[in-house]
Formats: sequence, C-alpha cells, structure tokens
Amino acid sequence: MILAVPKLKNDPFLKSQLNQGLGVSITTKTNPNPSQYRGRFAPSPTGPLHAGSLASALGSWLDAKANHGQWLVRIEDIDSPRTIAGADQIILNQLQACGLHWDGEVVWQSQRHALYQNALDCLIENKLVYRCTCSRQTIVQNLEAQGIQIERHGELIYPHTCRHQAIASDASTFAWRLALPESCWIQFDDLKMGHHESNLNQEVGDFVLQRADGLFTYQLAVVVDDAEQGITHIVRGEDLLSNTARQIYLQQILNLTKPTYQHLPVVKNTAGEKLSKQTHAKAINTSSRETILRELNQAAQHLGLRNVATNLSNSISDWLNQAVIAWKIMR
Ligand SMILES: [Zn+2]
Repeated sequence: MILAVPKLKNDPFLKSQLNQGLGVSITTKTNPNPSQYRGRFAPSPTGPLHAGSLASALGSWLDAKANHGQWLVRIEDIDSPRTIAGADQIILNQLQACGLHWDGEVVWQSQRHALYQNALDCLIENKLVYRCTCSRQTIVQNLEAQGIQIERHGELIYPHTCRHQAIASDASTFAWRLALPESCWIQFDDLKMGHHESNLNQEVGDFVLQRADGLFTYQLAVVVDDAEQGITHIVRGEDLLSNTARQIYLQQILNLTKPTYQHLPVVKNTAGEKLSKQTHAKAINTSSRETILRELNQAAQHLGLRNVATNLSNSISDWLNQAVIAWKIMR
C-alpha cells in the first residue's frame, strides 16, 4: 500500500491545518528524482487509437523526450461499463508500432481500487465528502423546483440536497460527493492555453468521487494516480481542460503536488466534432512502415510541428528523432 491514511484525530497541528482548509495529508510514492520530468499517456480502452488519440500520445511523448524525461502509460479502465475487452492490448500494440515506447510498467486503473479507496477514506475521515442518494431525476426536479433552468446535456450543479441531511451509512446505495467550500476559485497557467480561472461552485458544484454503483470517478482516480506515479507534466487533449480545475482542487485538499499542465488542440472531423469512438473515428493504420509514417506525419501536422521529413523512406525512429528536435524548436 502506498497511500497512507494519517491519524488525524489527536493531531492538533493537522487539525488546525484542516481548519484552514488545507485538507488531509497523503504520502505518495513520489518520483525517485522529482526534478526529473515525468509525463504520461492515459488512454481509455474504449477502442483503438485514432488520429486524435495518436496526436495526444505523440504530443506527450515528444514533450517528455524533449525534456529528457520519462514517459509512462496508464490504462484508464476505471469506467468498466465503457471498457472494451482487448482494446488496451490493441492500444499498446499501436503505440509500440509507432515507436512510442514507454518507461516502466503499464498500470491499469481497474487494479488500483485500494489506492482510490484510501484517498476517499481520508476525505471521509475529515468530513470533506458526504453521502448522496439523489438520482439524476431527483436532482433535475430539485433544480426545477428552485426555478433553475436546465440545459439539455448541460452540467447539473448539485443543489446540496443531501449535504445537510444525514444519510445512514447502511443506505442501500449512495454516492460520495465532495463538499466544496463556499468560495472555490481555482487558477492555473496552462503552458499552451494560458491563464485559466474557474469558480467550481458555479461551474460544476459538489462533484461525485464515488458513484452509487461503487465506481470511483475519473476525477479522483486521475489525481491519485498522477500523484502516486510522480507525474510532473500532464500533456493531453484540450477536451480535458474543463476537468483540470476540479483535479487541482482535489490535489489541494489531498495535499498532493500539482503537475504542470499543457492542453493540446483536439483533432476534429469535417463536421467539426472531436474524433472519438462516438463520432466513429477510424483506427490508425499500422499495417506497414509507410502507413505508420503517414499517421505520424498527420499527427505532427496537427500538433503544429514544422520541418519533420514527410519522406516515407525514413525509419520510424529517425522520424521520431527529427520530431523531437522540431518540438524543441516550436516550444
Ligand atoms: Zn443527494
């Protein structure tokens, strides 16, 4: 076990820190050399890599190599109903075929529940979360009763229904929600997208960390994993930018180091939709060196890289070496 739940009950110092809103303290298996860059690619195994996910993988790999860092791969299969059996292995094979080799062992979120439970237990012990038995339908009804307009597919800002009522611990199903403080402004500087400010109360409200079906949410898992793996730099698609403020807030209350963030523009199809399984994005073609170089060239173009040879007689490793140089020049 790597995350250690501290004994806070009789510790006046930690209690006073809590009163100042600092939150719990978690010891993590830190990067053995914290000054060394550690990046990661964290695909969800919902299908094979497509042009969009390849661009994210390449961007994070190039940034790690340009910084003489390590590059880790983590399979984000926490949302088991969405996971496709075998997709993880396909993704790993595609990365290998493209010459994007990772450092260390690949980790699977589905095997790390104890870590997430431990983090949640810290928050429970410190009364920073509460039980919630509301269904989506109840939340909608409560919001409507308060005269709040609900946009279709919009984020439901939780109306605090369960926050002030005690839900018995033996209630058959309940989710754990984070109790946000009254004012919860998060600011951060993204290396690509610039300065960001979020008011979490207005934008997302008290969000769920463990669902009523027992699944830990992406927000909790990703924060615990990045800390436990000693990740210093997160390079990922812009579609995840709106999650960043929530993750930074969780890092703050769990007392974890905040990594540096860089969000890359996402690849869109001709209809302007983000490439994804939902928009029927095609798997990248790794059937030969030429097709792989074509895919890599396309990903490089998307990332805005100049001066990478498009010559299909190159070897993949030569192409990648040139791309690292081009990435350094672009920064
Ligand atoms: Zn509720």
